[in-house]
Amino acid sequence: MSQAQTALELVDIHKSYDDLQVIKGISLKANDGDVISILGSSGSGKSTLLRCINLLERPNAGRIIVAGEELALKPGKDGYLGAASRAQLEAMRSRIGFVFQSFNLWPHKTILDNIIEAPMRVLKQPRSQAVARAEELLARVGLADKRNAYPGNLSGGQQQRIAIARALAMDPQVLLFDEPTSALDPELVNEVLSVMRSLAEEGRTMLIVTHEMRFARDVSSQVVFLHQGQIEEIGSPEQVFDNPKSERVRDFMSSHL
Ligand code: ADP
Ligand code: MG
Repeated sequence: MSQAQTALELVDIHKSYDDLQVIKGISLKANDGDVISILGSSGSGKSTLLRCINLLERPNAGRIIVAGEELALKPGKDGYLGAASRAQLEAMRSRIGFVFQSFNLWPHKTILDNIIEAPMRVLKQPRSQAVARAEELLARVGLADKRNAYPGNLSGGQQQRIAIARALAMDPQVLLFDEPTSALDPELVNEVLSVMRSLAEEGRTMLIVTHEMRFARDVSSQVVFLHQGQIEEIGSPEQVFDNPKSERVRDFMSSHL
């Protein structure tokens, strides 16, 4: 049997906003193909943790290792850790896809241009190669006919599927999702979850912050419950959903299932 490779490792991540400690020493490991759901009450630090992984927020301390390669982080004048250079930051972000609650597509670019921008600019792909890959990905998320549309002409569910295609265009080692369906009308949630489910099935490594409990239970290899910036409980979906050790997790589950 082949040894599972570590896709992402976080070691003792700390993050404060001024005096407010938001992430208080989180360590976490995702092997290739793992799908890790991150649950917790509002304000528990889920978004901050995810955003620290690709340095949308700069942590105070900790180590981030992607596919066995540690990011060289160095403290800025303000004491927070950052990438050593712009080039290093872009290289790292190209390996870690991020899908936001609010899609964050460029409104003045067509769908195709949204998808090919980073592969061309960061990965230096020739336009023809980037377009060919974008067309494949558009077909994959069921939106081949939207290539020349603008984000504003698409439903929220369609925009989020484009955001996923855009992330995939960089062929990232890890995909991070921060409540990808929370901004959607209920009838549009499933079209996004089914794309995410297919990514899980093909063995993509993903960290997913979500309130979609049934989905999390079905697709996750591990479930992490955060409370006040720390891991309150971590385990298989069966353990964390059905048989949590923590009373706090039990209460959360009984009010969310
Ligand atoms: P979650 O995603 O679990 O709801 P967040 O990571 O968004 O939680 O927030 C965790 C805590 O950090 C909250 O107390 C929130 O108010 C605080 N926080 C988040 N972002 C900022 C910021 N930019 N400045 C100051 N405090 C912040
Ligand atoms: Mg959040």
